[in-house]
Amino acid sequence: MPPLIDGAMDLGAATFVDTHAHLDDPAFDPDRELVINRAVQAGVAMVVNIGYRPSRWITTSALAATSARVTAVLGLHPQHADEFTPGTCDELERSITMAGACAVGEIGLDYFRNGPQPAVQRHAFEQQLLLAERLSLPVVIHQRAAEADCLAILRGAPPSLRIVLHSFEGSETLAEWALDHRHFFGVGGLMTRPGSKQLRAILAGLPLERLILETDSPYLMPARTKERRNVPANIPVIARHLADLRGTDVGTIASATTLSAVAALGLAIPPLPHQSQVMDRAALP
Ligand SMILES: [Zn+2]
Repeated sequence: MPPLIDGAMDLGAATFVDTHAHLDDPAFDPDRELVINRAVQAGVAMVVNIGYRPSRWITTSALAATSARVTAVLGLHPQHADEFTPGTCDELERSITMAGACAVGEIGLDYFRNGPQPAVQRHAFEQQLLLAERLSLPVVIHQRAAEADCLAILRGAPPSLRIVLHSFEGSETLAEWALDHRHFFGVGGLMTRPGSKQLRAILAGLPLERLILETDSPYLMPARTKERRNVPANIPVIARHLADLRGTDVGTIASATTLSAVAALGLAIPPLPHQSQVMDRAALP
């Protein structure tokens, strides 16, 4: 096992899921298989790969088809909302069906960067929410500097829709709403940053069964890591931060967040090399 970033960490039989990564990114062209193998060695039994625009639906689907450790989530990211056409939802539905994707995402609103007009983003977002509802699939939400609009749209979604707030950034309003509706919070590198005090304060108090772990590889490096890109094998580092924050151990974080990931995304997680049992929704209490 390669040394983990924080030094030796006894993971025992811990099983993790990385619920948000982009392993089809060109950053992984030289060593994609090795990156997946290292994740498995670190206890990450499954990586949820997000294909966020039509060209990435193809690469994500290809990766999920060739690796038992990778499952697909497909959608149109708000920063690519100008690629949305009247045919997009049909094409997305076909791609989701063919790839056996477990959710629609990442979708939402991003007013932080100079991107497509808000009205264009909202239209793409609303249409994809309707698609998720029709397919009875959960959604993975990307929200940045657009909380009020995002919440207004999500409040209109059917109560049965399962929602993952990817890279939850620490808004109290959003947290309260998501908690009330039993949605899920994606926890990753953001919480490890010195400036993320409010985020950590909120994460310390949320029920563990609402939290799932994510790296957003190759982006969002955890603090104090030296590599040039983020990798799913860093999930135990995030778990360590969360365990310290909540005064518990990494094993507790691993089992709770893995069950949450199964519940949120309906995953069937293949056993790690030393395990024998598939974990899926049927096993949930
Ligand atoms: Zn992402």
